[in-house]
Amino acid sequence: MADILRFEKPQKPSQTLCRNGHHKWRPVNSDPFAVHRGELITRFRCARCGKEKTKAT
Ligand SMILES: [Zn+2]
Repeated sequence: MADILRFEKPQKPSQTLCRNGHHKWRPVNSDPFAVHRGELITRFRCARCGKEKTKAT
């Protein structure tokens, strides 16, 4: 078995940042779920990887 996997392509810089926890969070303004059960929740989405998170305000 040859070690051909050692030549994997390097990760994209943006993905590397995201993998290190440096997401580019941007607030999602047009959020129909901003008001959820009477609580204001701001939703953020990473502009690079598309990961989402919510934060109660
Ligand atoms: Zn990200």
